[in-house]
Amino acid sequence: MTRNIRLMPCALAVLIFSLLAFPAAAQVTVLTNANVIDATGAPVQEGVTLVIDGNVISSLTPGPYAPTGEEDEIIDLAGAYVTPGFWNMHVHLTALLPHNHALDNASVGAKVIRAGVNAMEGLRHGFTGLRSVGEEHNIDVVWQQAFDEGFALGPRIFASGESVAPTAGHRGDVPDGADGVAAVRKAVRSRIQQGASVIKIVNVEMLQDELVAAIETAHSLGVTITAHSREPTLYDAVAAGIDSIEHGYDITDETIQLMAEMGTFYDPTIICNLSDEYIREREDRLAALGWSEDEQAVKWRTAIAYADERSPEHALHQRQALARAAEAGVKLLIGSDSMPVGEIGWLEMEQFVLSGVSEMDTLIAATRNPAELLGVLDSLGTVEEGKLADLVVMAANPLENISNIRTVTMVFKDGISVPMEPEPGTLRFYDYYESQGPPQSFLERSEDASGFVREGNPYESGQL
Ligand SMILES: [Zn+2]
Repeated sequence: MTRNIRLMPCALAVLIFSLLAFPAAAQVTVLTNANVIDATGAPVQEGVTLVIDGNVISSLTPGPYAPTGEEDEIIDLAGAYVTPGFWNMHVHLTALLPHNHALDNASVGAKVIRAGVNAMEGLRHGFTGLRSVGEEHNIDVVWQQAFDEGFALGPRIFASGESVAPTAGHRGDVPDGADGVAAVRKAVRSRIQQGASVIKIVNVEMLQDELVAAIETAHSLGVTITAHSREPTLYDAVAAGIDSIEHGYDITDETIQLMAEMGTFYDPTIICNLSDEYIREREDRLAALGWSEDEQAVKWRTAIAYADERSPEHALHQRQALARAAEAGVKLLIGSDSMPVGEIGWLEMEQFVLSGVSEMDTLIAATRNPAELLGVLDSLGTVEEGKLADLVVMAANPLENISNIRTVTMVFKDGISVPMEPEPGTLRFYDYYESQGPPQSFLERSEDASGFVREGNPYESGQL
């Protein structure tokens, strides 16, 4: 469409003045006949009307809706379920973890594009928020800004940039090894200066003074800090006031108790710690529920888990740790670590329930808890009047079966209804990943998803 607009300068001035004086009314969308799970822990509110005025939930009222004529759109949800938008709190947008070295040779440009495809696809799965915890070249920071500024429609990102880690430890390959208090402080401040909005440390090999310096510096700059952690330094991180723990390998009951007392959030990343047995259980269960029709997705999610498969003891320990943490009242987070954001984020929510967490607590771990941790609970994380309209609409009740999160029909981000299909002719994350060339051996192993036979454990052999 082309438009010819010829305005005299004074007419233009009048137009600009009128636009300033009378800003265009915000889009008003009304969702009627909704069953709302608000994620405060309250039971389902049935037959509710939600009014979205611009980017805000302006009202949430029981019963039918009487149109006023001011609405732009009224959508009868016919009993569909509405929850807050989901958060995936442990992402690495450019990766297909755990096989994180598969694409080392890809160009930075290719990684930037893959990260954006990943995030935008995640939004269509209902993930309106992401926390990136370790990313090269500040690619996550760039997408955080691009989405915030409206250059593309994507999830809200809290980006860490590169992890802060000591030389020669896990992730000791990051460019500026954080060795000693001064170097740790410098690294944390540099991340913030470059646009990071959270800090991720790898505290496994950090000394106490470095750990404390990282936490103090992050908090002094008003950002939260999370730690890739395992015992025994996991306990130290919690005691020193870390905001959240990633993975929490070998976590003890003593640490779980301290986390409950301190209010430390736990992001157990169950999905990247599965054993053969659990992968098979998961695939059988999803097939029984009728969710295995997409062969490409099955192949890839199996390949991801397959590459990362831990020992059965390790997998069992992680599941039991999650169950014990839930029992102790530790605040939980959904974080997949493995990518893509959306597909594997859903799998992580299912793993919570398979590990013994209730459906309600799983939903809260994907919605309310992330917002609380990130300091945005006043505007996000629950479905309440006055909050930003980041919403997921599902055809079936996720509290009856957590896999009903797969029935997502609509997603709203900041009041905007997200197109649920990619642009015509564009590829999905998996397509893009495959086109970028993961090693053939990786794909070949995934072909044998039924047998789960594999050679060696890539994690324990130090490849990952
Ligand atoms: Zn990670």
